[in-house]
Amino acid sequence: MAIVWPCPLPVDAYVAAGRKVEVPRPVCPLCGEPLVFWSGYWRHVRAGGLAGGRCPKIFVPRVRCGPCRVSHALLPAFVLAWRLDTAETIGAVITEVAGGGCGVRPAAARAGVPHTTARDWVRRFCGRASELGIAFAALAVELGGEAIRPAAGAGRFALAAIGAAFGAAAGLPGWLAMGRWRFASSVSGGKLIAANKSSPFLVVGRRRFIPPVPP
Ligand SMILES: [Zn+2]
Repeated sequence: MAIVWPCPLPVDAYVAAGRKVEVPRPVCPLCGEPLVFWSGYWRHVRAGGLAGGRCPKIFVPRVRCGPCRVSHALLPAFVLAWRLDTAETIGAVITEVAGGGCGVRPAAARAGVPHTTARDWVRRFCGRASELGIAFAALAVELGGEAIRPAAGAGRFALAAIGAAFGAAAGLPGWLAMGRWRFASSVSGGKLIAANKSSPFLVVGRRRFIPPVPP
């Protein structure tokens, strides 16, 4: 399992910190007990303009809950689970293509990623866009933001709902500087474009939101 924490650090600062990266200690999502740091692992991240190459390694701490006997990886919000590229890169491509601004090829070229990779992101996002739209629209309302009506296309609806939820969250401490795609990664547990069909489990601060199941 993975917990995404709302990391405000620039990617290069996180990379430079190595194993010494400071991560807040969360509580167990199952029982609420404080988690204990328990080793960790290295993974690559791809982002433009980074020192040490375009795919440096980052340290991902693990935490463990004794009573529940489970461990969780603590992913920084600038990544999505099982994706090499940053949430910002993936979000930029999705915004351009699912928003109807351009096709996959020019968006992939601008982001500096393979065309097939970008196509996969957009496919997955569009495949669960109705579900994401409903979940983020509900979150926007929970946070006191504006109500979003389903737009002409599911992709546009999801993008508008993510924007509305982020707009509402930006009024809470710490979220504005994070940007909408780190926000979206944080509240979906990194599973914004994950293959599994479960609804994203939305968490903001200590509040948890379980979005309604789409019709
Ligand atoms: Zn526990």
